[in-house]
Amino acid sequence: MANKIAEARAELSLANRIVANEGIIDAFGHVSMRHPDNPNRYFLSRSRAPELVTPDDFIEYDLDSNPIREPGVGQYSERVIHGEIFKARPDVMSVCHHHCPAFMPLLANRIDYVPVFHLGAVGGIKPPFWDQHDEFGDTNMLVIKPEEGASLARAMGKGMMVLMRRHGVTVAGTSVKDCVFRTVFSARNAAYQVQALSIGSNIESLSAGEANLAGSISSKTTGLTRSWEYWSMRVAKAGGVPAAKKAAPAKPRKPAVKKSSSKKKRR
Ligand SMILES: [Zn+2]
Repeated sequence: MANKIAEARAELSLANRIVANEGIIDAFGHVSMRHPDNPNRYFLSRSRAPELVTPDDFIEYDLDSNPIREPGVGQYSERVIHGEIFKARPDVMSVCHHHCPAFMPLLANRIDYVPVFHLGAVGGIKPPFWDQHDEFGDTNMLVIKPEEGASLARAMGKGMMVLMRRHGVTVAGTSVKDCVFRTVFSARNAAYQVQALSIGSNIESLSAGEANLAGSISSKTTGLTRSWEYWSMRVAKAGGVPAAKKAAPAKPRKPAVKKSSSKKKRR
């Protein structure tokens, strides 16, 4: 069990680094994971930039987003996003919240997200919008109160993505890898959609049938593991993964000492 939790923490740490390395989250944003052995708990990092998150940074929370143990470190203020979605959606095992630049033009103009290529189907067709102001009036725009998180979870409904007006995006997944896959490819799709809108208004999105079929490809092929391996390699190349522990260097053999009167120490 200890190994299982350690592996889960390592995977979640890498997930945070991948999403950061792909330009979707920066100093802000986070990826969480439901506890592998206890569906009423979840893991989320202490408050730090996701690119720096290590397996030791995760705090264990209950679904009301209270830490199980006093963490003694700063916590993310928007953790109720994760807790309330895990509470409302037993099928969701991982959540990513981000403010990816690719989405911001759509969110500002309230333009529906539509899949413009097959991998964009991971976000569905026209995922719902949620506007914090509708229910809560003027706020600092952060989703901090449990009722705000619950409202967001209701807006997400049974889908895997909800667009937060003038704020960002929240993506769900049936596993950490699935959540990362949906997060990265929906962000790519948003960028393509905005670029397409800048050169023409006749965007042709996937049909509902195509989106359904294309959206489930990742779970039926090696697409997900292939992507994870690729993104992990990119994190490693960027120096984002601690190097594997190197074996202790062998002791250098003592050179054969020639007795020579002329050998003097040089400085
Ligand atoms: Zn946010």
